[in-house]
Amino acid sequence: MAKRLDGRLLAARHEASLRASIAQHLATADDPPGLAVVRIGDDPASGVYVRNKAQACGRVGIESRIIHHPATASQQEVLESIHQLNGNPSCDGILVQLPIPPPLDARQLLLAVDPAKDVDGLHPLNLGRLVRGEPGLRSCTPAGIMALLAHGGIALDGMRALVIGRSILVGQPMAILLQQANATVTVAHSRTRDLAHHCRQAELLVVAAGKPGLVGADWVRPGVVVVDVGMHRVPPQRQGEQGTLRGDVCFEAVEPLASHVTPVPGGVGPMTVAMLLWNTVQAWRLRRGGVVGTDLAPLPR
Ligand code: NAD
Repeated sequence: MAKRLDGRLLAARHEASLRASIAQHLATADDPPGLAVVRIGDDPASGVYVRNKAQACGRVGIESRIIHHPATASQQEVLESIHQLNGNPSCDGILVQLPIPPPLDARQLLLAVDPAKDVDGLHPLNLGRLVRGEPGLRSCTPAGIMALLAHGGIALDGMRALVIGRSILVGQPMAILLQQANATVTVAHSRTRDLAHHCRQAELLVVAAGKPGLVGADWVRPGVVVVDVGMHRVPPQRQGEQGTLRGDVCFEAVEPLASHVTPVPGGVGPMTVAMLLWNTVQAWRLRRGGVVGTDLAPLPR
C-alpha cells in the first residue's frame, strides 16, 4: 500500500514557519506582507480558490485583498487595477486568478504584473529565470510538488519521470524543475500516442491533464510515485451530502500498487496555497532590500 504524500500536513508546517518569520521581522519591516488577488467574473470554482487563499493569508499574517471585476470589465480597466497594485508600496504580491474570461487577453494581463510582485511565477521574466535555473518566483503548483516530493524522501536523481500535461501553469514548469533535480523527464500531452505505454515506463508520474480518472491501475508500474494534480468537483450524490473533489488518477485503484501517492483532496492543492504564501513572503523580503531575514523554511528554488 502506498504512503500518502500529505499536502495538508506539510502545508501546515510551512504556514507555521511563515507565521513565525513574519512575526519576527514585522518590527523592522514596518508593514506586514500584502497580497492582492485580481478576480474577473463569477466562475464559482475561482471564487472558492480566491477565498481559500485569502483565509490562508489570514492564518500566517499576510494582509490580503480581493479586487473583483465583473466579467464585463474591459481589458483597460483590469490593466489599470494591475498598474495601481504595481505602484502600491503595501502590495508585495499580485495574483491574477485564472482562468481569465474571454475576450480579455490573459497574456497581456499577466505581462502587466511587476515581476517582483509576480507571486504566481507566470511573468515571462520569472519563467525565463526558471528555465535558466536562476533564483526567482516559481509557479506555485510545481514548486509545491517539489517540496512534497522532497519531504517524502523521493530521490529524483536519475528517476524516469512522466509529466502528463504541458500547460504553462503546471506541466511545463514541472518538467523543468524535475529536470533540474536530475530526473529524466518525458512530457505527454493530448496528442501523445499510446499514453498508457509511457505511463508504464515511469517511476514518477505527475498527472496534470484535467481529465478525471485518466490514469488507472493498468497504466502504472508497481512501486511508482504518483502525483495527482487534477482537481474536479463531484457534486453531492444525495440531498444533505457534501460535494467532494477527485483527481486525474483513480486513487483507490492505484494506491495499492504505488510506493507513494498524493490524495485528492489533501495533496497538491494545499501545497499550491502554501507556495503562494511563501512567494508572497519572499517578495516582501526582497522588496525591502534584505531588511527582513533569510530564515524562511528551505524550499525548492
Ligand atoms: P490545462 O487544460 O491548461 O492543460 C491540460 C494539459 O493536459 C494540456 O497540455 C493537454 O495537452 C494535456 N491533456 C489533456 N488531455 C490529455 C490526455 N487525454 N492525455 C494526455 N494529455 C492530455 O490544465 P492545467 O491548468 O495544466 O491544469 C490541469 C489540471 O490540474 C486541472 O484539473 C486543474 O484543475 C488542476 N490544477 C490543480 C491545481 C492544484 O492546486 N491542485 C493547480 C492548477 C491546476
